[in-house]
Amino acid sequence: MDKFIIIGPQGAGKGTQAQILCADYDFVHISIGDIFRWNMSNHTKLAARVTRIMNEGRLVPDEIVEEVVRRRLEEHDWNYGFVLDGFPRTRSQAEYLFENWNLDKAIYLDIPDDVVFQRVMSRAAMGQGSGFTKRADDNPAALKVRLREFHDKTAPLLQLFHDKGMLETVDANRAVAEVYQAIRDALHLGPPVKHR
Ligand code: AMP
Repeated sequence: MDKFIIIGPQGAGKGTQAQILCADYDFVHISIGDIFRWNMSNHTKLAARVTRIMNEGRLVPDEIVEEVVRRRLEEHDWNYGFVLDGFPRTRSQAEYLFENWNLDKAIYLDIPDDVVFQRVMSRAAMGQGSGFTKRADDNPAALKVRLREFHDKTAPLLQLFHDKGMLETVDANRAVAEVYQAIRDALHLGPPVKHR
């Protein structure tokens, strides 16, 4: 059973890399941002509590996020493992996770802020005229807040992962396939396996 965390600033490619990893190794992709966006499209009660915070680029309060994660992980719907994308992002969330779950590795996608800006703004531009979904938080003001939140609250967790011997840092300022290969090497994953 493999339990991984993937963290990094917005635009680092967390979602993309987690999706490929899960498709290749039959892991379950658990994206907290996706769960919130699903709630927003479906106008749930939870959405009413998080939409404004998310659109402004701020982090959703820990107690809300921890409840969502707790419920999601209680489903135990994985056979081979999971990739937790975008959690934990604060010290309280990390403590919650370590108290309740044994994780194998944390993959940190390392990327400079200026590259993040270029990537996210082009994601926003593509969203205007293609099948890509435009994210309400892909705008310069929200992005600045998201990067500040990342550096203030999430980046300090890297030391925590490092001290637990879990941290694998991957240079994410490369093409998707190269980053993916580096992740597979760091996690010592062999060739993709198909269980089905
Ligand atoms: P993401 O799709 O991972 O970029 O997440 C989008 C937004 O969802 C973030 O900017 C936050 O507002 C919220 N969010 C997702 N995960 C978390 C988390 N672990 N803690 C707090 N807020 C989160």
